[in-house]
Amino acid sequence: MKTKRFTSLIAALLLATFAAVAQQSESEPSVAKIQQHVTYLASDELDGRRTGTAGANEAAKYIAREFERLGIRPAPATDSRKINVMSARYLQTFPYIGSVELGKNNVLSLRGNETLNFRAGEDWMPLGISPNQKRNLTGVVFAGYGITANELNHNDYKATYTRNQVAVIQKGTPDGDNPHGRFTTAGQLRFKVAAAQSAGVGALLIISDEDDFKNEALAKLHYDNAGLAGIPVAVISKQAAEKLMNDAKEVTLVTDVVRADVPAHNVVGVIEGSDPVLKNESIVIGAHYDHLGRGGEGSLAPRSGEIHHGADDNASGTAGVLELARIFSTQRPKLKRTLVFIAFSGEEEGLLGSNYYVNHPLMPLDKTVAMINMDMIGRMKDRKLIIGGVGTAKEWRGLITAGANNAFELTMNEDGYGPSDHSSFYSKQIPVLFFWTGTHTDYHKPSDTFDKINYADEARILSLVARIVTDVDSADPRLTFTTAKSEPPRGGAFRVYLGTIPNYADSNDGLLIDGVRDDSPAAKAGLKAGDKIVKISNREVKNVYDYTSALGEMKAGQEYVIEVLRGGEKLTLKIVPEARK
Ligand SMILES: [Zn+2]
Repeated sequence: MKTKRFTSLIAALLLATFAAVAQQSESEPSVAKIQQHVTYLASDELDGRRTGTAGANEAAKYIAREFERLGIRPAPATDSRKINVMSARYLQTFPYIGSVELGKNNVLSLRGNETLNFRAGEDWMPLGISPNQKRNLTGVVFAGYGITANELNHNDYKATYTRNQVAVIQKGTPDGDNPHGRFTTAGQLRFKVAAAQSAGVGALLIISDEDDFKNEALAKLHYDNAGLAGIPVAVISKQAAEKLMNDAKEVTLVTDVVRADVPAHNVVGVIEGSDPVLKNESIVIGAHYDHLGRGGEGSLAPRSGEIHHGADDNASGTAGVLELARIFSTQRPKLKRTLVFIAFSGEEEGLLGSNYYVNHPLMPLDKTVAMINMDMIGRMKDRKLIIGGVGTAKEWRGLITAGANNAFELTMNEDGYGPSDHSSFYSKQIPVLFFWTGTHTDYHKPSDTFDKINYADEARILSLVARIVTDVDSADPRLTFTTAKSEPPRGGAFRVYLGTIPNYADSNDGLLIDGVRDDSPAAKAGLKAGDKIVKISNREVKNVYDYTSALGEMKAGQEYVIEVLRGGEKLTLKIVPEARK
């Protein structure tokens, strides 16, 4: 029948059209798919994806299932291969302290005219960063705000002290609550702890500024995964502090904090290359999927408790990884080199996941020819795109500008270091690129939601990334790594500059250096990536805070001794800090 034949012709035409559309959409980023990923990852259900929480683990599972659905394989070297659940084989698990609880053995007692025992949780509370120690203290030192800031001519520790003394300080800074005050850095808790440590006291007690200790924010136990303090630290109620200041000859302090390790996961999927030789080389495409949960550390919201959705930061980049994984998994012929897709966790806590990966790589790092990082690519405005790391390979600039890029208004930065996961790879001498659409007023706030993402422009960014990856792969010789010119950061809290790239992962026995900026004082001193700084200018360094605090006391142009561990050896080097520009 005519009509029928006619309809079937239409149907055939329609089918052909659909097929063509489907084919095209497989090699092009799909706005709908990006939107679907971001909407789920940034949903209330995932509770802000704070590393180590159920929400983050659900996100990891989602990413792993997407990899599985696309036919992408787990990395061959994953030690979890024996795991039966397929999606779990994509997870690279790294250690992470996810919860802290009050132990059973906490003691704060005073002996003076009377003996007083204060109750942990009611009158005082050890901090999550406090090591578990017992101290018998025979002297109480009141040290104002507990701030040492030579560059501001401010020192609350006026004398030399001993480990038998306990410093008691108040919260805040001489500037009050001004977030742009001069003491913003030196007044941070971590720096106050470092200042007490270097003043020589054996413990630090911080006086609550709440009349009711139950409202004291510091008494809510938490841990930032950035290393333990060198001395016990606790917060005490106003009432307890008064007793302590007026009538204490001896103080016994026992701190007992139970820090529970919970697993955190990178999610890693691999598309093997098609070239028999070049498939041994790989290109990493990565983005972090973790965010700030319900606020706290890293949040810019006035109060914690609300879900920080992290749609731009960094559901957008994670969706980018998934979309690029989909595109490259369907592309024929396949790329010559192996593609490694990684969704990192622990980024917000200090690049923990990417750091773990580069120190426990699943594909050989010396054969990793490039790392592409996408962090916050969902808020493009006026076609403005920032690409960092262009100074890390000789070919980058040419490759980026080779295509028709009038589509974007590009800002290119040379530096391979920066506040995201590409930094970890650059410190291992891998060429990196960092795609970013810039910051905005919802940054690190609950209001970073899926409805504010510019999906169409994100799709166009992904097309550019796909094109660059394809171009990197099309040449047989690999990219030529170059050390990028890196500007010392301007206007920091301190006057001097050394040029070290500290490793922000948990450390208690020195500060590991991930890299050294070219031509910097650190480079001239002979410091190398992998060195662990244990002492600088006569101050013991256990973690990044001790280090930064020491830096605050150094003067440009003066020579200082720096002790580092390299391999098993202790080296003594000399360093001359430069003035910050
Ligand atoms: Zn962030």
